[in-house]
Amino acid sequence: MYALVIVDNPSPLVDMPFHYLIPDHLKDDIKIGTRVMVPFGNSKEPIDGIVTALSEECPGHVKRVKPIVRQIGSGPVLSEEMIDLAEWMRSEYLCTWFEALGCMMPAGTKSSPNSQKPGKYRLWVRRARENPEKPLPKNAARMRAVMSFLEQEALDEVCCSTLIQETGCSLQTLRALEGRGLLEIYDRRVLRAPELMTGLVNDRVERLSTSQKDALEAIRGMRDGGTGQVLLHGITGSGKTEVYLRLIGDTLKAGKKAIVLVPEISLTPQMVEWYHRRFGARAALIHSRLSDGEKYDQWEGIKKGRYDVAIGARSAVFAPFEDIGLIIIDEEHEHTYKSESSPRYVTHSVAAKRCRYHGGLLVLGSATPSIETYHWATEGDIGFVQLKERVGGGVLPTVEVVDMREELKEGNRSVFSTRLAERVTTALKNKGQTILFLNRRGYSTVVSCRNCGSVVKCKKCDISLTYHRRENSLICHYCGYRRRPPTRCEVCGSDRIRHLGSGTEKLEKAVEDGFEGARVLRMDMDTTRKKGAHYDILKAFRNQEADILLGTQMVAKGLDFPGVTLVGVILADFTLNVPDFRASERTFQLLTQVSGRAGRGSQPGKVVIQTYNPGHYSIEAAKNHDYEGFYEQEIEIRRKFGYPPFERLINIIVSGEDQREVADGASTFYKVLKERLGALKGQQYELYGPSQAMHSKIKNRYRWQIIIKAPALEGITEKVRETRFGLLKGPLRGLSVIADVDPYSFS
Ligand code: ADP
Ligand code: ZN
Ligand code: ZN
Repeated sequence: MYALVIVDNPSPLVDMPFHYLIPDHLKDDIKIGTRVMVPFGNSKEPIDGIVTALSEECPGHVKRVKPIVRQIGSGPVLSEEMIDLAEWMRSEYLCTWFEALGCMMPAGTKSSPNSQKPGKYRLWVRRARENPEKPLPKNAARMRAVMSFLEQEALDEVCCSTLIQETGCSLQTLRALEGRGLLEIYDRRVLRAPELMTGLVNDRVERLSTSQKDALEAIRGMRDGGTGQVLLHGITGSGKTEVYLRLIGDTLKAGKKAIVLVPEISLTPQMVEWYHRRFGARAALIHSRLSDGEKYDQWEGIKKGRYDVAIGARSAVFAPFEDIGLIIIDEEHEHTYKSESSPRYVTHSVAAKRCRYHGGLLVLGSATPSIETYHWATEGDIGFVQLKERVGGGVLPTVEVVDMREELKEGNRSVFSTRLAERVTTALKNKGQTILFLNRRGYSTVVSCRNCGSVVKCKKCDISLTYHRRENSLICHYCGYRRRPPTRCEVCGSDRIRHLGSGTEKLEKAVEDGFEGARVLRMDMDTTRKKGAHYDILKAFRNQEADILLGTQMVAKGLDFPGVTLVGVILADFTLNVPDFRASERTFQLLTQVSGRAGRGSQPGKVVIQTYNPGHYSIEAAKNHDYEGFYEQEIEIRRKFGYPPFERLINIIVSGEDQREVADGASTFYKVLKERLGALKGQQYELYGPSQAMHSKIKNRYRWQIIIKAPALEGITEKVRETRFGLLKGPLRGLSVIADVDPYSFS
């Protein structure tokens, strides 16, 4: 018997399963997914590997088959599902086996359990195995509430504090139930759960609204009827989270597991808090800031059945559950669901693949679904459910669009239009809170010479530097390079240097100068570097300790603060002027999402959007809360130009330190690729380039670009892999070639 093993080595040159002999004494232990030590190449010590297949035979060309040295651990570390998934990712996203398997075995899996700190202990409750027949006394409402909570939520075990929080009972109630033989209370080691931000959400929801109920029933119907994937399109504040929670409840009752994906844990503390409150210690929280030991605990806990729900950013899609009933992708339009390092997977596709394997349901939720998802929903490829009203009879805010060209004509050079200034003043007077959104950090975004027009750029990147006032430095937002601002132009020597464009730092100053006495908080990458800073800002704002919260897209998403009555968008044009076919979509989504932060309490909300493009359809549609209108226009453009969802793309970036070599390398790549693609019979595709990438130099590396566009990528991805592999070994040695399938970024 032979095992095919992927060895622990990142080189694309060894990106294939190698044959090893299974020695007799390991015959019963070696299975697909087992970790093994194997001899490899010239290495003196055996190296780590994963068995991906078993075979009776060994092909003739393999000359000397070596035996597996030993097994690591007991039993397979990866299921066969995961091995299949890795193989699929490799062919779909042009990554190596090593990279794909790396997603499934987080860094922590390799660290030895001995290196871990001992856990703390906490009180837990479980229902007694034998239920005594003795009925509860009539006046024991609290006791009844506890028992019916456990019943309803299908919880066998729960942390005392969760139970107390959820039912309003006391520890005494629980002890009384213990005394009656209904519950058992015991100590349990607490796993190192990652820090959680709490105290940011309202009380628990008692009753679903009619539209929530209808949506929930519709999704249940689809699920039970065998629909594998559903879009839940619900306007901002329509209460989607509560629908998700009930679906998870169903899943657990059926004895299956659920995965909940959120765009970014630190940006969505409220969502995470909801889930954690409801599922407490049965929920694993997975995110990138966990230590290796914590990652190990979570992964191991899931494998051992300690958790029923995994909550996390995109990497949680790989949670090693063996029986998945449900995966939810919340805010499914967010770009964080696309991985920007290899494997460059789209979370939706991985989730869909896993749900198909397990017969589970995939729910995609958003107020502003991606054009692709909405297209599939309206075409009937996936289920489609809508929530058209805000909960509690709330209404969407009224949106005003201000033409900043008119403001300039009238001599207003401030970042505030007259209208927005009026609205802020009124909100302050009425004690309403305001969110101001500006998609640029720093003080001024461009420093240029009035005499010759030259712009101060980064030494290592082809990107203009941003002025940061507090540090009095020019900083590159790509590579972090910093320098003193020049007093004279370095091109012509003129001293007429000017600062253009506003970032959040300048906005903060403008607010302080313009609205005396207003209490202001700023939230952007610069103010949230310190651990916990992000949480402190949100908590202070939620507790009404500030009147105005301003910041970058961090303030645009997911926040649910009832005190907010006004949202101001300082300049809508930043996302619009990007050369990317998704620019309009992105603008519409951001404007709709940020507007959705207003008017979530009893007071109706107002939104002011400032722009130099007031007539643009993405801005008009956002103003009218008209998702469908926006979609109709956008989908026609996609159809006309052959963009997703009608065609698929591969973005290929060739980069290196020598400008000439990169340019030559890109054109060699293009020629060889064209030849190879030519061999595909009957396959439609278009090839663009090679051309300089939009950011032609980043971190001292020059960048060229080739784009493939095709109705289907079957066969094409493999040709790209062959081309890349062949050339990197030969003429393109020393250069880097990235091939991004279904890219979200073209810069
Ligand atoms: P969405 O994600 O659709 O924007 P959320 O799920 O954040 O909306 O819900 C918005 C707010 O409404 C939350 O504060 C939530 O607690 C509250 N909420 C949700 N459902 C109900 C309900 N049935 N009754 C009362 N409040 C609710
Ligand atoms: Zn100059
Ligand atoms: Zn730079």
